[in-house]
Amino acid sequence: MKESINPYNGDKLFNFNELTYNELEGKVKVAHECYLDWKETSYEERTKLMYKAAEELRNDKRKYGEIITKEMGKPISQAIAEVEKCAWACEYYAENAENQLQDEIIETDAETSYVHYQPLGVILAVMPWNYPFWQVFRFAAPNLMAGNVGILKHASNVMKSAEMIQEVFENAGFPKGCFQNLILSSDKIKSVIENDLVKAVTLTGSKPAGSSVASIAGEQIKKTVLELGGSNALVVFDDANLDETIETCATARFQNVGQSCIAGKRLLVHKSIAEQFTKLFIERVKRFKVGDPMEEDTYIGVMAREDLAKDLEKQVSDSVEMGAKVVLGGNRKGTYFEPTILSGVTADMPIFNEETFGPAIGITVFDSDDEAVELSNNSVFGLGVSIFTSDRNRAKNLIPKFNEGAVFVNELVKSDPRLPFGGIGISGYGRELSSHGIKEFVNKKTVYIK
Ligand code: NDP
Repeated sequence: MKESINPYNGDKLFNFNELTYNELEGKVKVAHECYLDWKETSYEERTKLMYKAAEELRNDKRKYGEIITKEMGKPISQAIAEVEKCAWACEYYAENAENQLQDEIIETDAETSYVHYQPLGVILAVMPWNYPFWQVFRFAAPNLMAGNVGILKHASNVMKSAEMIQEVFENAGFPKGCFQNLILSSDKIKSVIENDLVKAVTLTGSKPAGSSVASIAGEQIKKTVLELGGSNALVVFDDANLDETIETCATARFQNVGQSCIAGKRLLVHKSIAEQFTKLFIERVKRFKVGDPMEEDTYIGVMAREDLAKDLEKQVSDSVEMGAKVVLGGNRKGTYFEPTILSGVTADMPIFNEETFGPAIGITVFDSDDEAVELSNNSVFGLGVSIFTSDRNRAKNLIPKFNEGAVFVNELVKSDPRLPFGGIGISGYGRELSSHGIKEFVNKKTVYIK
């Protein structure tokens, strides 16, 4: 049995019965049968339905936002914004998928040669709780447009969100079986991946989860895309516009209660501005309104689960034991974690060398551009980095030196349906979103006509 519990007040919200192995197999069969018809539909038909899904999301954004907030504790304004962003992804792919998957003519010695994109079939998505809607829509919108069908194993704490997402597609008029939610524990995933009708898997989550799913899929020679988190640096050079940079860094770390793979998690600041920056940054973070996530003006709600809050508490206290100094916050009460800033952080501390998934950040000082790059690259993750400087040439020279899936200059790392999203190193592989994302789970068929 799965249970949703409101992390803000401990209220038990919903119960869900897990599927049996037989029921699971039945759902995969339904998905496959749906695929056989769905792959034959025109882009026009898919586009119409995808626009409808976007409309459904926009019309009921508060209803869906409230479920997100109740299940995982993020502030309601951010939950509603998440639903709107899902609508944007649906609209983006409704508008662009046909073009992105057009035959790609390549001149050779053939009379005609080209790449022809075709769907693969049933794709399994294993998704996390931190953006319960967004993580799923950024998988579902491109894949349904490409002619694949989706089955979802969502995180155990957000099963109502998962149910609602299936409802969005059904209400939009997608055929039954095009997108199905599976209520199951992760120990049953193996049987789904091993099912011959399932053709590929995408997972967003932790390294252990990704590694386990990719191993099982690897044995079956099934493709995977993995998005496994990061430890992005926010690198503030001495010529950065301080007011704007502080605002952006505060958002980069503290939005979504710090529970984002692309959050800025390590603040690297040039020595000459470190003191002033730290003072202003503390003042800015203090102004975030904390409290009941259901209130419109709350910016910091609670963390999604108490075990995750305890993990963060240990990372902070271990770092303090190693010499870091708490300059703001530092305390936890249940699922609530005070917005926390540590100074004097070095690369051997957990707040620096582990992924911190919550509202805490450490400040590390650097002396030169080379040292800044070295510190930023001193991570097993490789999802993204933000650099802040008013010198565009300096930025352009630095960009190739960062070992990351993305470099953002004077902006926080953010996902955008138009841009590819993904990492290197243990942040995973493959790309989501944009024309790159829609081509992950298609057969790129080479055609050669003499
Ligand atoms: P998990 O990686 O455990 O959960 C993500 C998804 O994977 C869930 O659907 C989960 O199901 C499933 N899962 C977990 N273990 C396995 C497995 N062995 N095989 C198949 N599926 C599995 O994340 P947590 O919720 O435990 O969070 C732990 C840490 O992971 C965070 O602190 C953060 O560092 C990272 N994380 C990164 C995210 C990102 O956006 N990249 C998102 C969430 C977490 P179930 O819920 O049933 O266990």
